[in-house]
Amino acid sequence: MSVPELAAAGPEGRVARTALALREATAAGAWTLLDHPLLALEVAGSPVYLEPDAVVVRPDGGWTVVEIKSFPMVDGAADASKVGAAARQAAVYVLALERVAAVTEGARVARSVLLVCPKDFSNLPTASVVDVRKQRAVTRRQLDRLTRIDEIAAALPEGVSFDVAERSAEELTAAVECVPHQYAPECLAACELAFHCRSRARQADAVETLGRSVRGELGGLTTVGAVLAAARGEEGDPEDPAVAALRRARALRQEALESAPARTPREQVECPC
Ligand code: SF4
Repeated sequence: MSVPELAAAGPEGRVARTALALREATAAGAWTLLDHPLLALEVAGSPVYLEPDAVVVRPDGGWTVVEIKSFPMVDGAADASKVGAAARQAAVYVLALERVAAVTEGARVARSVLLVCPKDFSNLPTASVVDVRKQRAVTRRQLDRLTRIDEIAAALPEGVSFDVAERSAEELTAAVECVPHQYAPECLAACELAFHCRSRARQADAVETLGRSVRGELGGLTTVGAVLAAARGEEGDPEDPAVAALRRARALRQEALESAPARTPREQVECPC
């Protein structure tokens, strides 16, 4: 198996070198391993560079992504959530490879990837084929629905800049403040602005702080105050299913509280609620 040299200057150079190596390997019809190739994928109108652990080119022109992970495969099975995350990651590589394959004669990208993990907590590797068709289709749809970055930039107020090299801390703070946010608790695990956006959401009394699923259930009730007022019967359309559900839940709660036996002072102290 040949292992071509993929070094080149800059990400564009490495992407071009990878594409050339893939074309040469496919034309040669020989087993080839590309060690840490660099691929490009357009996300929201901008190129994003991706580096799979390896890509194998088979003699029949098939290209297979190889993903190497550190979590163990015990008795042939690995943690399902970790395998799922690896499959989603590999599906993005498959999409990026398909762009190169589309302009390479005789090439086709496998919709299954090779997942390599330590075997039974040892230093020995073991591998399993993972079907990523579903993850690829989902990612493809999500990428197609993304708003282009230039469209987002065009909607920013005049003169707003996030250039950390040129702008002062005060200017950057003001720039962040003038952009609306879509905070959700999931942001805490993914975004450096999460605490800032959470603070703004709390100041606005927004129901987004309770999670996206709760937000979805509440329909047109966008603040915690409006939710409480609707539950108390002070606001809201009684025909609205969310308002009706809130009033029903409040009535059930009151009913349960009234029928519950009175607690002794000792129970009140010990109760963890
Ligand atoms: S925390 Fe990040 S992802 Fe979440 S709303 Fe703020 S900027 Fe957007």
